[in-house]
Amino acid sequence: MLNYRKDLEKMPSYDGVEKNYRVKVNANESTLNLPPLVEERVINRLANISFNRYPNEEYALLIEQIAKNFSVSKSQILLGGGSSEIIEKVFHSFGGKGKKIVYPQPSFSMYKIYARAAEAQAFPFDLDEKFDLDVDKFIKKVHEVNADLAVVCNPNNPTGNALTVAQIEEIAKNIDCAFLLDEAYVEFYGHSAFNLVKKYPNLIVARTFSKAYGMAAARVGYMIAQEDVTRMINKTFMPYHMNVLSLAAADIVYQMRDEFITRIQSTVAERQRIFEKLKNLREIEVFPSQTNFILIRYKKAAALQEYLDNLDIGVRYFSAGAAGLKNCLRISMGMQIENDEVFSAIKNFVEGK
Ligand SMILES: *Cc1c(COP(=O)(O)O)cnc(C)c1O
Repeated sequence: MLNYRKDLEKMPSYDGVEKNYRVKVNANESTLNLPPLVEERVINRLANISFNRYPNEEYALLIEQIAKNFSVSKSQILLGGGSSEIIEKVFHSFGGKGKKIVYPQPSFSMYKIYARAAEAQAFPFDLDEKFDLDVDKFIKKVHEVNADLAVVCNPNNPTGNALTVAQIEEIAKNIDCAFLLDEAYVEFYGHSAFNLVKKYPNLIVARTFSKAYGMAAARVGYMIAQEDVTRMINKTFMPYHMNVLSLAAADIVYQMRDEFITRIQSTVAERQRIFEKLKNLREIEVFPSQTNFILIRYKKAAALQEYLDNLDIGVRYFSAGAAGLKNCLRISMGMQIENDEVFSAIKNFVEGK
């Protein structure tokens, strides 16, 4: 009999299904691999790596670039293995017994798990029936429970909608506790709140290379906050938690980020195109999105998901346990031809063909 850590058995698991679909639009990934020009430079860079050394230099190089781009000091940036690691460490830093964490619901399913892992008490804040976050009520809730950490995902996954930067500022200004802003999809929205970090010492902005920059496999993310905050959160990271392959690849991708502008624009255009088409389907409710995915609600969502699965099309279905997401499916944008196929399949199912 092995004696595991207390409550480990009860720890919830991430419920994403990972199957290799022919048309894979279930995980908000970029459907395209790196632009060929970028890929070539990444490969050249990887050919010149000192595998024998700890990656101090590569870590510093990437931080330097990011700091320069945001006009902040290097000590205001921390890197993570995906923004997942950043978020986990932020939860850890403000968590522990008796600590309270407020986050919206429905939102990123991992917040609940990170809160649990941090042994903190979770206070999900319900979005309204249109999935909008009532800023005043959210602020009130943070005060009411005397939270230690408030989290907002903007634009929100899986609902796709976004708060304005002014609304984010309203929250930052009116709460005293730490405020984690998860900007995993902000490149598709175009309005980041990172500038507010200068003004609000409680604000932590998390970003990722996984979505707009098509680097989900490399696991690279970062956070921006004031120096006192990064100094404390940095204590929770193990030394050399980032590997040299990911650091070097991300360094090139970041240098060449302009190469991604057109594909981000195409994704946004595709999202709008598919949004309009879905809107014309009777019985399907479509939620406006500022991301690279669209959420729909349909009373036969489970059957539709199964139908798509049989066509080897993977979309994200939310199980009954996912609060507020009953009968919802989330569809990431692929290439135009993929999106057309997904749409036609949905249309055929809905129209009973
Ligand atoms: C995808 C995602 C992340 C992070 O992904 P990483 O690959 O770990 O960077 C963070 N937050 C949200 C809301 C996401 O959807």
